[in-house]
Amino acid sequence: MLKIPAAEIPKFRRRMLSWFAECKRDLPWRGTRNPYRIWLSEIMLQQTRVAAVVPYYEKFLEIFPNVQALARARTDRVLANWAGLGYYSRARNLHRAAKEIVTRHRGHFPREYEAAMALPGIGRYTAAAVLSIAYDAPYAVLDGNVARVLARIGALHGDLRAPSMWRKLEAAAQELLARNASGDWNQAVMELGATVCTPKSPRCGECPVEKWCRARKLGLAEKLPSARKKRATIEITLAAAVLLDPRGRTLLVRHSEGGSELFSRMWQFPALDTTGTDTRAALAGHLREIFGVAMKGALTPLATARHAVTFRNIRLEPYLVRVARLPRVLGARMIGLGQIRRLPISNATQKIASAATAHTGTAPRWCAQRA
Ligand code: SF4
Repeated sequence: MLKIPAAEIPKFRRRMLSWFAECKRDLPWRGTRNPYRIWLSEIMLQQTRVAAVVPYYEKFLEIFPNVQALARARTDRVLANWAGLGYYSRARNLHRAAKEIVTRHRGHFPREYEAAMALPGIGRYTAAAVLSIAYDAPYAVLDGNVARVLARIGALHGDLRAPSMWRKLEAAAQELLARNASGDWNQAVMELGATVCTPKSPRCGECPVEKWCRARKLGLAEKLPSARKKRATIEITLAAAVLLDPRGRTLLVRHSEGGSELFSRMWQFPALDTTGTDTRAALAGHLREIFGVAMKGALTPLATARHAVTFRNIRLEPYLVRVARLPRVLGARMIGLGQIRRLPISNATQKIASAATAHTGTAPRWCAQRA
């Protein structure tokens, strides 16, 4: 598939490995064989830039230095230390997997591929990355960076994420793997994709394997891989209510208690999707039906904000609702408005909270009452 002559593959591998030894970035998870640390870095790096991950990674390890500490922690505490990184299902799965590792694997990250894959949140890529880097197990990784490098080396056209193409790329990656140095090999290919064979303007002049790259030879380096068809962005309006009692306390809920499913099970203000409807009327109805809050006056609009989640472009429309007392809702939290960052909340909830705190000094003094 990649059309590298078999006799030259050993040289290709040597070039990659010596380039990696010389040019790799100095990152906090480099140079460790500790599977917990490698696993944590791989999970944090999913969909997230290295620069954003570094401070979270270091802080997370200070608080949860090993898998036992993570397994013992309360979910809220884990999520609070993940807040800001996004994609919170990663943190929930990490926590669940830590518990399984402690209870079912005596605190050791499993060495067997199938056992690793059985852990929550661990797919083929993460299993191969952790097992190869921690244990030098012979599994090649394939992620977007690696796929791009391989596609350019073989001058492959077509959608790399198409299942049949992805399977071929997995086979090619496995064939190319330097089995005597799996961990370094995998990191070398990922590093090449991240720093030299970048999506735009690859720096072919600095590439250790330029000699074998068909895309470079054919003048296609910048054109491959072929652009994927983008999923169309959809516009959503999300209305949220910042209920505020005379003591400055507000109400935070989960999705199942009247929040939005967009923010998974993070703590959030009562909210609902009001796209294409009368936002105020819909939010007032939501507060009345779910929380028993009957509006006596108009909802006070707060500064709107934008928030993007994958293909959704969300317009956040927060409203301040002063209440004589907060409704009692099973599972909800009453907390000072200025203190909500102590809980795991999404960036969207932070934006809403900022709009509310910026406004509270000038908010009109009317009350909604319990129905
Ligand atoms: Fe990527 Fe250029 Fe190297 Fe080919 S020569 S692998 S396109 S950086």
